[in-house]
Amino acid sequence: MKLYNIKENDEQVSFGQAVRQGLGRNQGLFFPSELPKFEDVDALLAEDFVPRSAKILSALIGNELSKEQVLELVGDAFQFPAPIKAVKDGVYALELFHGPTLAFKDFGGRFMAQSLAAVSEGGKITILTATSGDTGAAVAHAFYGMENINVVILYPKGKISPLQEKLFCTLGKNIHTVAINGDFDACQALVKQAFDDSVLREEIGLNSANSINISRLMAQICYYFEAASQMIKQERENLVISVPSGNFGNLTAGLLAKALGLPIKRFIAATNANDTVPRYLETGQWEPKPTVATTSNAMDVSQPNNWPRIEELCQLKGWGLDTLGKGSVSDAQSAESVKDLHALGYLCEPHGAIAYRVLNEQLAPEETGLFLCTAHPAKFKEVVDEVLQLDIELPAPLAKHAAMELLSEDLDNDFDALKAVLRKVQ
Ligand SMILES: *Cc1c(COP(=O)(O)O)cnc(C)c1O
Repeated sequence: MKLYNIKENDEQVSFGQAVRQGLGRNQGLFFPSELPKFEDVDALLAEDFVPRSAKILSALIGNELSKEQVLELVGDAFQFPAPIKAVKDGVYALELFHGPTLAFKDFGGRFMAQSLAAVSEGGKITILTATSGDTGAAVAHAFYGMENINVVILYPKGKISPLQEKLFCTLGKNIHTVAINGDFDACQALVKQAFDDSVLREEIGLNSANSINISRLMAQICYYFEAASQMIKQERENLVISVPSGNFGNLTAGLLAKALGLPIKRFIAATNANDTVPRYLETGQWEPKPTVATTSNAMDVSQPNNWPRIEELCQLKGWGLDTLGKGSVSDAQSAESVKDLHALGYLCEPHGAIAYRVLNEQLAPEETGLFLCTAHPAKFKEVVDEVLQLDIELPAPLAKHAAMELLSEDLDNDFDALKAVLRKVQ
């Protein structure tokens, strides 16, 4: 697989390099130089999730990894299903929250961990990442217990939900969690400082495992095929998919699935009040505003870092940006949609409800609608309980971690202190 840097096209890397490096020069994102196209999609869809996903990923990766190796990676990464559920006539929910941390990030996080181990050539790796919740949990669980890989996760002390904290700060072994005296931006600034320190970077083999890593997007392509495989042909050939978006990795993966031949009629980019993209699609002006806090906090992003990949892909394929549906949804409206879905017999948290709302507004009668449910309702228990006046039960993985002891250490917002921690965990 060859990939190029979108900002500096002369930088070309292999799959292994792209996975190890994350970003290219000048903070440029990597993009595949060639996209295979599956001619017989029906035959592909007839296969089971793991072998089909291995075929898709192997076609992308090419001969850098053998087909058997890819099948093994995928088998290790995708150990949970991605079922669709009918919520009403012609409208389905795609449940992406059956992994160990109950959010769709488990797919990308686990495939990235397996890929990184496969391409690391035995060298030492330190994953350093900042999180405001979901990413940290997915990364921690994905890399837990892997040899030669240490994981250090920074998060703002007291600013993530206690349940989120329990989910990834109770693991131990090679997972080190650090509560920073500061906000999320302070955590991100520390991570950036570490990556700017080339001596440190080399010494401990720094890697960020964040959402710009191409391996994460590649894994996410697979569940769009999986969703279509569960529909009858007439339904899936008239398919509109609504994606609740923050950094726009999920939507990028969906568009890549379409480029590989999955017949998707239209995508909808659904956001919360952080509506940089819907406004851009409306006016053509890229004008990020300060990020605002919402009840769908995993989408509280005003400068989505995967957007350049969407522009690149649409340009390559000749898809006008005006073919993308869009919509932004307020907290009050998303609460309403959580209620609407509950009345239809479907329990949903705010991120999925946002996707449902925009889909419902824009779906034509002859079309089939699919909205992505990116997190388990219990992950946003406080909001869901309040909106529905319920006390929803914690699923087993959450309940287990909720009862465990926190293992995080506290740290001042200070780069030298962080450096000491990074060296200590080696
Ligand atoms: C990360 C996340 C999103 C946003 O996904 P992007 O790929 O960043 O657009 C949506 N919902 C949940 C629950 C998430 O954790």
